[in-house]
Amino acid sequence: MEDECDYLFKAVLIGDSAVGKSNLLSRFARDEFRLDSKPTIGVEFAYRNIKVKDKLIKAQIWDTAGQERFRAITSSYYRGALGAMLVYDITRRPTFENLPKWIEELRHFGDPEIVIVLCGNKSDLACHGRQVDEREGRALAERERIWFMETSALANLNVEEAFLRMITQIHEITV
Ligand code: GDP
Ligand code: MG
Repeated sequence: MEDECDYLFKAVLIGDSAVGKSNLLSRFARDEFRLDSKPTIGVEFAYRNIKVKDKLIKAQIWDTAGQERFRAITSSYYRGALGAMLVYDITRRPTFENLPKWIEELRHFGDPEIVIVLCGNKSDLACHGRQVDEREGRALAERERIWFMETSALANLNVEEAFLRMITQIHEITV
């Protein structure tokens, strides 16, 4: 089927460790979720084909393979990426406080046109463990002129929407 796709888009997942990046990706690519927090090893990216308008897009989404722990993400990770999903955990405030650092890295290594979608993940825990108000996420996104959504990989809330937002937006600005 590879030959039949019209475009191949690369996108990357970034954000602090254990915010749910790998689970967002496995939910999107395979509709799977893992309760144990095995750091990503081995799997470096996943694919999904998506139809946007009349075009078939192959989205290649890269995961950090645990390097975020060591601040070891290199420029090759960002190379050629047209989209980035920047993830924090709404139940752990420090993962939100670190966002400016991630945005700076994206602006430094990423394509100037890169489409960024900010995801406040673990929205299923909003009632008992929330440490970051939804309005704070939205305000940051507005300041940075990036997209924003609260998501839950566990409850499958807004996951499809967040990835599709990124992919259709890439399609819009590159095609
Ligand atoms: P990564 O290090 O950013 O790739 O994070 P993981 O995807 O490995 O997830 C870290 C931990 O958070 C795991 O225990 C997951 O089960 C859990 N997790 C991920 N997404 C969610 C979510 O949406 N809701 C809840 N409650 N837990 C989640
Ligand atoms: Mg991971």
